[in-house]
Amino acid sequence: MKTDSVNNINHISAAQQSAHLADGLGRAITYVRMSITDRCDLRCTYCMAEEMTFLPRSEILSIEELSRLAKTFTEMGVRKLRITGGEPLIRKGVLTLMEQLGQLPLLDELCLTTNATHLVQYAQGLRDAGVDRINISLDSLRPERFRQLTRVGDLQQVLAGIRAAQTAGFKRIKLNCVALKNFNADEASDLVRFALDEGLDISFIEEMPLGKINGHARAAEFISSEDLRVQLQSHFLLQAEEPRANAKNNAGPARYWQVSGYDSRIGFISPHSENFCSSCNRIRVTATGRLLLCLGQENSVDLRAPLREFSADPAHLQNIIINALQHKPLQHNFDLADEPQILRFMNATGG
Ligand code: SAM
Repeated sequence: MKTDSVNNINHISAAQQSAHLADGLGRAITYVRMSITDRCDLRCTYCMAEEMTFLPRSEILSIEELSRLAKTFTEMGVRKLRITGGEPLIRKGVLTLMEQLGQLPLLDELCLTTNATHLVQYAQGLRDAGVDRINISLDSLRPERFRQLTRVGDLQQVLAGIRAAQTAGFKRIKLNCVALKNFNADEASDLVRFALDEGLDISFIEEMPLGKINGHARAAEFISSEDLRVQLQSHFLLQAEEPRANAKNNAGPARYWQVSGYDSRIGFISPHSENFCSSCNRIRVTATGRLLLCLGQENSVDLRAPLREFSADPAHLQNIIINALQHKPLQHNFDLADEPQILRFMNATGG
C-alpha cells in the first residue's frame, strides 16, 4: 500500500482490499496506464507524423475526472498506475494529479513515463507526491542524432532532466529506447554503458506499427531484440535475469538481462519477435477517457460519458469496466507491413 496511515486504512473496505479484476480469458488486470494528454513537446519520428492535430481540451479528461477514474480502478483491484501521454509533464495540473494519486491507499506503485524535458522543474515534486518509478525515453546520446529522432529535442535538456530524477531519489529510473536499425541501433552499447555507469535500467523496444508516420519505413528499420542482444554481447557479458521472488518486478512485457557487477537491468520489449500477451496484466486509458483493451487492437470502450454523467454512481462506471474486460483480445497481431493496422498514434494511445 502507498500509505500506512491508520486513518486511510480504516476507510478501505475488506471488499476493496481483496478486489480482483480479470479479463474474459482469466488474466488478472492489475495495471492501468493512463494518458493525461495527447500533446507533446517533441515529435519523435516513430511516434508521430511531423504535422499533428491535437485534441480540443474539452475532449480531454479533467484532473478531477482522471483522479476519480484512477480511484475507481484501485477499488476494483488495480495496484499499479502509470501516467503517460503525449508528454504528461506538459499537462497543466500534473503535480496536483500526482499528489492525489499518491494518496490512493490501495495503490502499490505510481509510475510515470516522460521524455524528461521538464524533469528539472518537476522531479522533486513528483517524488514528494509519491511517484515511485519513472521511465525516461532516450533514443540517442548524440546531440545531432537526438535532434533528428525527436525533430526538435535538445539532448542537454534531457540529460539535465535525468540528473534531476537521480537527485530526487526515485526507487528506479529506466531508460526506454526505441531501436531503429539505421538510426540508432549502432548506439545500443553506448546507451547500455551510460545506463550501467549511471545506475539506471534500460529497455530496448521494437518499433510498433501505430499510426501512419512519414519519416521512415517501419519495415526497413526493424531490428529484433535478439539481434540487438547479439550485438550487445560483443561488448558485455549478458546474463538472463532469474525471475525475482517479487513477481511485481517481472510483470510486464520486458525480458531482462544483467551485466555482472552492476545493478542495472537491461530489458527487451519485443512486440514482434517475442509475444508476451499471455501474461498481459494491463489496460490503457486514452486522454479522452477511452478504455483501450489492447495496444495493438481497436477494442475500446468510452469511459468519459459515464464519468461525466454518472459521477455520483461509481458502480455504473465499474460495471462498464467489468463488461469491457470480457472483450480484451487474446493478443496483438503486429506485422511489418508499412501500412499500419492501427491508425492511432502512440501519443494518443498512452505509451
Ligand atoms: N512523452 C513520454 C515519453 O516520451 O516517454 C510518454 C509518452 S511516449 C508515447 C511513451 C513511450 O512510447 C516512449 O518510450 C516512446 O519511445 C514509445 N513509443 C512511441 N511510439 C512508439 C512506437 N511506434 N513503437 C514503440 N514504442 C513507441
